[in-house]
Amino acid sequence: LLGPGQPLKQHQIMVCVRKRPLNRKEVAEKEQDVISVPTKDVLVVHEPKKQVDLTKFLENHKFRFDYTFNELCSNATVYEYTARPLVKHIFDGGMATCFAYGQTGSGKTHTMGGEFTGKQQNCRDGIYAMTASDVFAHLLIPRYAQLGLRVTCSFFEIYGMRVSDLLVPGKPQLRVLEDGHQQVQVVGLTEKPVENAEDVLQLIEMGHSVRTSGQTSANATSSRSHAIFQIVLRVGNKGKLHGKFSLIDLAGNERGADNCSACRRTRLEGAEINKSLLALKECIRALSRQSRHLPFRGSKLTQVLRDSFIGGRKVKTCMIAMISPGLHSCENTLNTLRYADRVK
Ligand code: ADP
Ligand code: MG
Repeated sequence: LLGPGQPLKQHQIMVCVRKRPLNRKEVAEKEQDVISVPTKDVLVVHEPKKQVDLTKFLENHKFRFDYTFNELCSNATVYEYTARPLVKHIFDGGMATCFAYGQTGSGKTHTMGGEFTGKQQNCRDGIYAMTASDVFAHLLIPRYAQLGLRVTCSFFEIYGMRVSDLLVPGKPQLRVLEDGHQQVQVVGLTEKPVENAEDVLQLIEMGHSVRTSGQTSANATSSRSHAIFQIVLRVGNKGKLHGKFSLIDLAGNERGADNCSACRRTRLEGAEINKSLLALKECIRALSRQSRHLPFRGSKLTQVLRDSFIGGRKVKTCMIAMISPGLHSCENTLNTLRYADRVK
């Protein structure tokens, strides 16, 4: 449906959906694929329902987004239509954000960071790495080369109310402060200077291993936390901010553990995640309505991203909603699509 080299839409806010393929386990269990992607911007959920007389019928829910990516689309294609157009934007002095949203297991980390599971570990074809290599390519364009820009990267995690640095072993906790000029600062956040795409790959790998280290199941904390990878452009040695790209692998949006009375902690985590995802939606909506009041104080996530939503600079944002194709994920999938639908 979507191939490289097609004209790109350019909106201030883009909302796209990516469907992953059924995985091997789902195929083995004959899981039914309930999602179709008939055109490049439409997606349909075929929800099986039983009527009172027990005859089955399908209820079709149709959604339209800026782009819809089917299970055959590669990370490179998704990148082409989502984050890539925003690279130029930060070189032109803007602020950009790209979010991966969806339930655990839907493909957020695969899309943003690359492949970290199994034997074929590779973060080269994740959106973080592709963005970084495009940033270095842009540095060679004469009109940007003359600006004397320096590139740095930061990588941090928000888990509940805690913010921790992923570029420092041991994940030290960081404080978030708002100064008198309404600027929000993550105090002591590492900004590593990078000279080329290889430097960035090392930071992605390091951050990912710090993110998941010490967990029995690699996905346990990482699915309950937001990971924020930032590429920052600064001018010369004075270091004045020129542009910033924040790439965010959001916490899973599922409400799976709500009915488990034993896991109070999990429920509290879930409540905090819901709060932050709601605040995020409200901030993006406010942006699209050009509202002057942004409810960014609603959560740590929106607070640390404040300067990417306001601050007198041009801001652009892109959300990629990830969905699992299976019948058993149908309810989460519909929740994800409804959220994405209301972001604009
Ligand atoms: P999440 O970060 O949303 O919890 P992951 O990115 O970890 O989900 O994906 C879960 C599993 O599905 C991983 O093993 C990943 O390799 C696989 N996967 C996700 N998206 C795709 C895709 N588009 N193509 C192939 N495999 C995928
Ligand atoms: Mg993940």
